[in-house]
Amino acid sequence: MSSFPVAHKPLHTPPLQEVAEVLQTALKAKFANAEVTVVDCPDLTKPPYGLEAAGLCGSPRLADVGGVPYLMPMVQKDKLYDVKDLAVAVGLPSAFVVGAGAGPHPYVGVNSEMMANIKTGDSTTNGSRVAKINAAGSYELQKLPQSETRCALMLNMFASEGRPGKVLRVSAKKRTGDTNLVTCMREALKAHYGEKPVGLGGTFRLVEGKAKCHVMPEFSSVPLTCDAEVNEWLRFFDMPAPMVFLSTLISSDPDLDLRVEHSHGYGSDCGGHYHYDTTPETVEYEGYYNIAEFIYRIDRPKETHSVGRN
Ligand SMILES: [Zn+2]
Repeated sequence: MSSFPVAHKPLHTPPLQEVAEVLQTALKAKFANAEVTVVDCPDLTKPPYGLEAAGLCGSPRLADVGGVPYLMPMVQKDKLYDVKDLAVAVGLPSAFVVGAGAGPHPYVGVNSEMMANIKTGDSTTNGSRVAKINAAGSYELQKLPQSETRCALMLNMFASEGRPGKVLRVSAKKRTGDTNLVTCMREALKAHYGEKPVGLGGTFRLVEGKAKCHVMPEFSSVPLTCDAEVNEWLRFFDMPAPMVFLSTLISSDPDLDLRVEHSHGYGSDCGGHYHYDTTPETVEYEGYYNIAEFIYRIDRPKETHSVGRN
């Protein structure tokens, strides 16, 4: 069990119905069709989601682990975390964890994007994937073995007991605005709740259309010091639906040096970090989110910067 500094703060937790109304109003301004309702979470272990636990309920919380400063300007390869330890650190030894981070380079062999999807506890199950740049220079999706529950450098995760219960169902089709789905939701919460932080985590699907996603290549041998250098280093692709994304967002940062939104997803043979869809006319999203009660900050970098957080 590794040790790392852990801090946490309570989040503002308005009723689900109120948040649904705030999100629906905002999404209707950016999509031709949008609906946000409070529903019983469908069984997320079943298709089309196929995740490691049935629901997003029971002690819901967000954690921001490590951060981009461990990746750049130069990588710190000793920054490795086991999701089982992270679950203990957020007070949920038996947790359902979904989230976006960097894959375990000692196992994968190179740097990669990680789509974390793990149920910890007595019988840990691991449905996590990683996406890497292969020797041919294209993206390659890989399922991690059950026993490989580590991530590297950074992870934005949503943890809960994985129980069924009431959640937000988000549906949006045909984008008319210029922000992506997650940014639209985050900015709506920020506009409504101001400095009171509201955090959401869960999953959404790209049902139709294509998404611009990046995949990190092998660690840079030269320092990455600004967003232009980062964007030159990253590899960008249009990836086709259907894709399942694991997603976190928080409306404001209560002085914890947070990444305020982060979503990674995968399809049958693609995967990466979500930027936005490139098919506004045909795009279709469906998602399920719950409201987090706490934000945990784990192994916060002492030296920080704002490069590479998009
Ligand atoms: Zn990412």
